[in-house]
Amino acid sequence: MRIPMTDLRAQYSSLKEEIDSAIGRVIESGRFILGPEVESFETEMAAFCRAKFAIGVGSGTDALVLALKAGGVAPGDEVITTPFSFIATAMSIIHCGALPVFVDIDPTTYNIDPRQIEARISAKTKAIVPAHLFGQAADMESIMDIARDYKLKVIEDAAQALSAEYNGQKVGSIGDAGCLSFFPAKNLGAFGDGGMVITNNPQIADTVKMLRNHGSKISYYHVLPGFNSRLDAMQAAILRVKLRHLENWSSLRRQKAALYSDLLGQVEGIETPNVSGRNTISANYYTVRLLNHGPDRGELRSYLASKGIETNIYYPLSLHLQEAFRHLGYHPGDFPHSELAQQQVISFPIYPEIRDEDIAEVVDCVKEFSQHNSRGVLSKAN
Ligand SMILES: *Cc1c(COP(=O)(O)O)cnc(C)c1O
Repeated sequence: MRIPMTDLRAQYSSLKEEIDSAIGRVIESGRFILGPEVESFETEMAAFCRAKFAIGVGSGTDALVLALKAGGVAPGDEVITTPFSFIATAMSIIHCGALPVFVDIDPTTYNIDPRQIEARISAKTKAIVPAHLFGQAADMESIMDIARDYKLKVIEDAAQALSAEYNGQKVGSIGDAGCLSFFPAKNLGAFGDGGMVITNNPQIADTVKMLRNHGSKISYYHVLPGFNSRLDAMQAAILRVKLRHLENWSSLRRQKAALYSDLLGQVEGIETPNVSGRNTISANYYTVRLLNHGPDRGELRSYLASKGIETNIYYPLSLHLQEAFRHLGYHPGDFPHSELAQQQVISFPIYPEIRDEDIAEVVDCVKEFSQHNSRGVLSKAN
């Protein structure tokens, strides 16, 4: 038996006819870059996120760069963000010529800890970029309060959290702008790269629209230094088909995550995800912590791999310790919660089509291994 982290073919086969006909429609139309298909998708996404504007761009990473620039982040500015995320969260800040300033995470949610933000604000601080990791929103109320007090922009990295809600609001629609990714393995995945900026701010929307298209509104008249970062019509057409299933898929993912947590709850040495009462998660990853007296992560991964079960580590190295950011001058020990998380987390297979039996099988293998291979204090089974 094989249980992959995600199974994109299962999703395609359930929608094959609709997707193939959408692709055919685009080929027949001869419109491949932007155009009516992208505009329709943007309208539908804005409605889905309950935001005024949605602008399709080339990737989630580009969405971050363009939103930061549209929000006024410029060379020499500082931007506060989390050290525990995918690299793009901080790399996008570097690409604006600004400096990422890291703030440690809240170990219960893996998201930036708002209680530590104020101490890192300086005269150069321009924005805060929270990432809603594993599909759970950061503590947006506290973050928005700080942003209001210090007049900072908030650009949400919602790449993992499309369809998640915080206090009843869709993530990405709470800050000044929200950034989405349509990387194939995300909750709403294209057949290639794609991304989107959502915002309620007409000026940010207008600027992102120009930035994605060489800084122009009218062809061959350029008003600012922009990029070539457009969503193509084929991806938009595919995503429009999938968007109709997104709420259902997210609810299936939440059920699968809840089943994992139920079954794993009894296993000694494993900490299942903590979901705050304000959050409805998108459950794009299912990530647990192996506590110090629990099973060794590398050995557990090898054991599960031998049983055909894929696992992954999101993320094995905190951003402040990445070689690409060495010039920022951070050191091991600077962000203890992020560094502990990088050592302890492991993610298990989750996707809407995964069978409950597969989850039970993963958990049985984890239990089997943990009973015989826990470190430190004896496990309860002994
Ligand atoms: C996937 C992801 C991105 C980048 O999205 P791409 O579309 O791959 O460029 C950014 N931030 C986070 C947290 C992500 O998970």
